[in-house]
Amino acid sequence: AFPHLFAPLRIRGAEIRNRIMSTGHDTVLPVDGHVNEALIAYHRARARGGVGLIVTQVAGVHETARYTSHLLMATEDGCIAGYRRLAEAIHAEGAVVFSQLFHPGREIMESADGLLAVAYAPSSVPNERFHVMPRALPVAMIEEIVAGYAAAARRMRAAGLDGVEVVASHGYLPAQFLNPRVNLRQDGYGGDAARRLRFMREVLQAIRAETDEDFVIGLRISAGERDDEGLTEHEARAACIALEADLDYVSVTTGTSATLGGAMHIAPPMAYQPGYVAPEAASFRQALRVPVFVTGRINQPQEAEAILAAGQADLCGMTRALIADPEMPAKAARGAVDDIRACIGCNQACIGHFHKGLPVSCIQHPETGRELAYGSLAPAPRRKRVMVVGAGPAGMKAAVTAARRGHDVTLWEAAAQPGGQALLAQMLPRRAEFGGIVTNLMREVERAQVRLRRGVRVTEEVLRDEAPDAVILATGAVPHVPDLPGDGGVEVVTAWQVLRGEARPGGRVVVADWRCDWIGPGLAEMLARAGSSVVLAVNGLHAGEVLPLYVRDNIAAELHRLGVEVRPYARLFGTAGDSVFLQHTPSGEAMEVEGVATLVLCLGHRPVDDLAEVAAGLGIEVHMAGDCLAPRTAEEAVFEGLKAGAAV
Ligand code: SF4
Repeated sequence: AFPHLFAPLRIRGAEIRNRIMSTGHDTVLPVDGHVNEALIAYHRARARGGVGLIVTQVAGVHETARYTSHLLMATEDGCIAGYRRLAEAIHAEGAVVFSQLFHPGREIMESADGLLAVAYAPSSVPNERFHVMPRALPVAMIEEIVAGYAAAARRMRAAGLDGVEVVASHGYLPAQFLNPRVNLRQDGYGGDAARRLRFMREVLQAIRAETDEDFVIGLRISAGERDDEGLTEHEARAACIALEADLDYVSVTTGTSATLGGAMHIAPPMAYQPGYVAPEAASFRQALRVPVFVTGRINQPQEAEAILAAGQADLCGMTRALIADPEMPAKAARGAVDDIRACIGCNQACIGHFHKGLPVSCIQHPETGRELAYGSLAPAPRRKRVMVVGAGPAGMKAAVTAARRGHDVTLWEAAAQPGGQALLAQMLPRRAEFGGIVTNLMREVERAQVRLRRGVRVTEEVLRDEAPDAVILATGAVPHVPDLPGDGGVEVVTAWQVLRGEARPGGRVVVADWRCDWIGPGLAEMLARAGSSVVLAVNGLHAGEVLPLYVRDNIAAELHRLGVEVRPYARLFGTAGDSVFLQHTPSGEAMEVEGVATLVLCLGHRPVDDLAEVAAGLGIEVHMAGDCLAPRTAEEAVFEGLKAGAAV
C-alpha cells in the first residue's frame, strides 16, 4: 500500500529497511549523561514496531556542550558500553542507528549545578531566548571541539552504531559559524562564506578520518531558521552544496532555538500543516546528490508516502508519530492504518515534558517513556467483571488496559457520544485534531473488545443490578461556578456553555481564566475571530502559562494578531452594571473593564465523585481515574486510566 515508504535505502554500510525515521530528540530518560535501560527500552519498542532508522538524541562532544543537565555525553570512552547495548538492542529488531553529535554554542538553557553554564560561540552575540551572552571561542578551543566531534564519532563506531549526524540545525554551534549575523569573526573561521564553512568542513573531515568507509556521516540543518537574524534557506542550501563531498545525507528541518518564533518549529504544534517543510526539503534535494531527509509534522504514513512519491525527500522523520504509536510502521506495512494511534500535535507530553525536565511520554500513550514499567503488562491473576464508568479519555484508557489484561470490561457513558471533555477541546480554533484522541481511544476500545453502553447514567441501582467485581470511576467533572457578586447587568456563562453553543457571547467579552491552560486562550481566540472585543483576564503570568511552550507561544502570537487584550495577574472579583471587576493580584488594586456584555468563566472544574462511596458501600472494589479524582489535564487523565486499568 505504501511502495515508496517501504522501499529500502542504502547509505554506505547502512541498509535502512524503510523510509521512516525517528529523528534525534531529547528524551530526558538518561539521568547521568549515559545511556541507561530506560532509553534502551524506549528505542527497542520503536525498532520492534518497524521504524527503519533511529537517530539517537544529541550527544555532547565537549565539556562546554552541556546545554541541559540530562544531556548524553560522548566525551569519554566510558560512554561506549552503554551505546553498545543500545545499538545491539536496535539492531536486534532490524533497525539502523545513528547518533547526533552536538554542541549548542550559545544555546545554553541550564546546568546541573544550578549555575548557568558558560556559553561559547563564534562571537559574543547574545541569545535573546535564554538571555545568554556567550564568550567568543578562542581558536585553541575551536580545535578542541573539532577533535571532540571526531573522538565522539570514533566512540560511536566502536559501540557499533552505523553512523553519526552533526547537528547544524536550529541555530546550534555549527549554524552559528555559518551565519554571518552571528559569526562576526575576522580570523580563519569567519568573514567570507568559505571561512564560515571552515568549522563544519574540519568537523566532517575529522570524523571521516577517525571512522571508516562504511560509517555514515550526515548533517542536520534548518532550511531557513525563520528568524530575521537566523540562517536563511539560501545560506543553508549553499552550505550543504559546499560540504556535499564530505556528507552522506542531509536531514532538513526548520526553525531555530534562538527565538520564541523560531523555536516553535522544533516541534510544530497542531496549528501547522502536516509535512509543511517538504517543499523546502525538495529544493535541497534538487540541489544535492546525497539523500535528503525531511521532518516537520509528518504524522501519518499517507503523508510520508506522498512526500516520497513526489520526490521531495528520500526519508521522512516521523518522531512524534512514533512517540504516539511505536508500532505505526508495522501497522502501515500490514495495511492496518485505521489502527494507528495518530499523533495530534498537542506537544503536551513529548516536547512539553522536555521543557519541564521530565522523561518523554505521550498524551495518548502514557506507556511511552515508561516502557520498563508499562511496556508489557502482566495478565490479571483472576478475570473480573469490571465496570468502567465514564467514557472520557481516562475511562477509555482504563477500559482498554483492563481488557487487555484479561478482564471482562464494560464501559458506561451517560452521554450519547464517548469522549468527555476532549469533545469540547476539539471545538476550539485550530484544535480540531484534539478530537483524534477520542477517535484513537475508541478504536482501541473496539479492538480490546470492551462492551460500550452509552446514554446510560450509572446510579446506585445500576451498580446493584450489575454487581461487578470492580468499578473504575472516570466520571469527570463539572465547571466550577463561584458565587460572584453581581447585579445581572453582565451575562455570566461558563466556557462549556459557549463551546456547546448554549451561549453566544457578542460585543465586549471578558474571559476569566483561572488555570491558564488551553480553554481561556482558546475561547478568547474563538470569540475574537467571531468579531467580539475580548479581554482575557489571566490569574497568572501568561495566557496559556501551563501549556507546552511552543503551543503557548503560537497562541500568544494569534491572540496578538486578533487584538485580544491580555491582562495578567488578574483575579476575577465580580460584576456591577456593565462592568467586570478584577483584582491585580500582586498589588491588590482593583481593575474595571467597562462596557461588557458577557463574562465567560474558565475557573476550573469540580470533581464528580459521588459514586465512589456508593460503590464502596456495596462492597465493590473501587478505582478512580481522571477529573473525578481531581482536576486533570488530558495527559494526566489518560495516564491515570492506564494505572487504574493496570491495578484492577
Ligand atoms: Fe503527539 Fe501529543 Fe503524543 Fe506529543 S503528546 S506525541 S504531540 S499526541
